[in-house]
Amino acid sequence: MTHFEPVSLYLHIPFCTYRCSYCDFNTYTTLGDVQSEYADALSAEIAFVGQASGAKRPVRTIFFGGGTPSVMSLADLEKIMLSVNTHFDLHPSAEITLEANPETINQAYVNGLKSLEINRISFGAQSALSHDLAVLGREHNFQTVIDGVEMARTSGIHNLSIDLIYGVPGQTVQSIHQTLDAVLALDLPHLSLYCLTVEPGTPLHRDVNNGRIAHPDPDMAADQYDAVTERLAATDLEQYEISNWAKPGLESQHNLAYWYNAEYLGLGAGAHGHAGGVRYHIVRRPRTYIRRLTENGDQPTTYPLTPAVAENHPIDDSEEMADTIMMGLRLLKEGLSAKKFEARFGKSLQTVHGKTIQELIDLELLAWHNRSEENGPSLLLTEKGRFLSNQVFHRFI
Ligand code: SF4
Repeated sequence: MTHFEPVSLYLHIPFCTYRCSYCDFNTYTTLGDVQSEYADALSAEIAFVGQASGAKRPVRTIFFGGGTPSVMSLADLEKIMLSVNTHFDLHPSAEITLEANPETINQAYVNGLKSLEINRISFGAQSALSHDLAVLGREHNFQTVIDGVEMARTSGIHNLSIDLIYGVPGQTVQSIHQTLDAVLALDLPHLSLYCLTVEPGTPLHRDVNNGRIAHPDPDMAADQYDAVTERLAATDLEQYEISNWAKPGLESQHNLAYWYNAEYLGLGAGAHGHAGGVRYHIVRRPRTYIRRLTENGDQPTTYPLTPAVAENHPIDDSEEMADTIMMGLRLLKEGLSAKKFEARFGKSLQTVHGKTIQELIDLELLAWHNRSEENGPSLLLTEKGRFLSNQVFHRFI
């Protein structure tokens, strides 16, 4: 792969106004005073990696993730976008997504996003029900989501997504249907659904351990996932990935880059990246991140590394192949194309993993399908395989 291949940019914004009970992301609620310095550092990091690539590389997708990117001022977002436009070749129809917590935005802000060419908003809604939101420690209600969607549409941003969580203690099949009633009424083109995990060190972990909140019930979670899958199958949203549904043509282009195991530059505190034959991650703490970029301004770097990189390792063929298989199998419509795999690695899937694939087919966890003339036969998870996907993925490591 040359340095002129298109690349995706993940830009991490590690600031939130409060901490949700289940959250173990790299985000901070007390660093509001460094946001502007952080935007300068992120702009500098974009310049570093852009210059190190030796050419203005084409960019097809940008994703502002967090944290809560919508707490960033428009002036700071403008600085960051200016740096992208200066050091990369941003495609005119690039998908540019910003994650937003609905209670942090207003009409003027969303209009400002639109004028910065941000053309997709992903709302962190999680549930329409106040009980679930209270367990999750979220400080908004569903009316703020309804208002946010209307603001986005008024500004001219129509490519909208919503994040939901299932498996919340106290949530039932009936209550997730209530959330779906409210969400489907918004007629959004994209929806993501994630299972709650109780991460060590979070307030939710403490509350579950001391009995204040019930343990999540995995059987109930499985029933809820089934209910959502069945309900959405009767709508115009297609399940194109294990956790994602979209109207045809409105799949997340940025996330597809991950599932194709394509190159992406992760920039910002704690971000992970995969480009130039290297996997790396950036230092986690925002103040350290800012210092690294301001004190090492003239340090030469080798693409895709910058002075803020904490660790990196070269990716060998077997890691790249395993990642490509595991990510590709997440795609439920498209699957993993044998033809594309061979074109990428110069070896057939059969040669590399024929025995494992046959065993998984015999167990009815995988099956071959002809989904497109262009891509030839593709390997897909069966319905049974979707429930056991982690076990399937592990067989390829
Ligand atoms: S808004 Fe997201 S990143 Fe921020 S605390 Fe909540 S879950 Fe974590």
